[in-house]
Amino acid sequence: MSLPILPLIDTFGRRHNNLRLSVTDRCNIRCFYCMPAEQVKFLPRHEILTFEEIERLVQAFAHVGVDKLRLTGGEPLVRSDIDQLVHRLKSIPQIREVAMTTNAVNLAKQAERLKHAGLDRLNISLDALDRDTLVAITRRDVLDQVLAGIAAAQDVGFKRIRLNAVAIKGLTEAEVLPLARFALERDLELRFIEYMPLDSDQTWSNEKVLSGETIRELIEQEFGPLVPAQRTDPSQPAFDYRYAEGRGRLGLIHPVTAPFCDTCNRLRLTAEGKLRNCLFSLEEWDLRALLRQGASEQEILALVRACVLAKQPGHLIGQKHFERPVRTMHQIGG
Ligand code: SAM
Ligand code: SF4
Repeated sequence: MSLPILPLIDTFGRRHNNLRLSVTDRCNIRCFYCMPAEQVKFLPRHEILTFEEIERLVQAFAHVGVDKLRLTGGEPLVRSDIDQLVHRLKSIPQIREVAMTTNAVNLAKQAERLKHAGLDRLNISLDALDRDTLVAITRRDVLDQVLAGIAAAQDVGFKRIRLNAVAIKGLTEAEVLPLARFALERDLELRFIEYMPLDSDQTWSNEKVLSGETIRELIEQEFGPLVPAQRTDPSQPAFDYRYAEGRGRLGLIHPVTAPFCDTCNRLRLTAEGKLRNCLFSLEEWDLRALLRQGASEQEILALVRACVLAKQPGHLIGQKHFERPVRTMHQIGG
């Protein structure tokens, strides 16, 4: 019996069709804004959702209007046979798009398999082209692997690849223009993301946020005025621009200085099956427990709706009542 489609609309009228799936909390590098440098406590394997469990949950979400998925983590490419999960998810009829966010360290050897499995889009994280700066951020020397991963992804035919760069004051200003040139030369869409308070070292402060506005000024000094690009999807978090002569595409994501919560259409599932209605959510809904108790799809969707209905209007970063979630970024899924 097929379920009626009652979309996941929250109390502020936001319709949720976008699910970010963390497939692991593990990672092969250690970005300081996301993970501790050492002694990281990873989830034991039996706590992580199996591919079958993920597929079953996505089928339920698909019945209530979720049609966009993004695989993330931790680093999704450290999960074995991740291309098989892509293939399974792409086989769910309602799913329009399966994308992935990756650090690209392992991408060169997996790009072809991912393309074959049907992965639609790739976001690749690269905060710096200067080797020392990248090492300072990731605590590993991985620049060559990342560049090889980008090249391999383009070679196997991935289009509209996005480069994501976290913008950190005092650390990445000098990277803005080299990254912009690199992206333009290689036909990549570059997005700068303001540094958010999800680091495990708890060293984030408002003063360390290199704002989207400052980045825009840096870019415009070099390339001339940016022209706002047409917004095809109002739930996209980025303010998109084109360079003056119509070339390239640049996105600025300002979660801290100009939050986009009022159009948020995202839900997040952690690697161990906890559903979150916001990156900064202080509450979670345990879908794995239901799954492993043999719950029906209706029971699973009832919990999903409870999560959606509890969604707050927005986060309070930088405000007096802001409370950090206990989890850091790699334990949530960025
Ligand atoms: N490992 C993959 C990667 O780095 O692309 C996927 C997971 S990572 C958590 C997803 C995205 O979140 C990356 O682009 C990363 O740079 C970003 N990110 C992590 N911690 C962040 C923070 N504190 N503030 C802003 N962005 C952050
Ligand atoms: Fe790993 Fe991505 Fe976190 Fe960096 S941002 S430590 S690559 S999960």
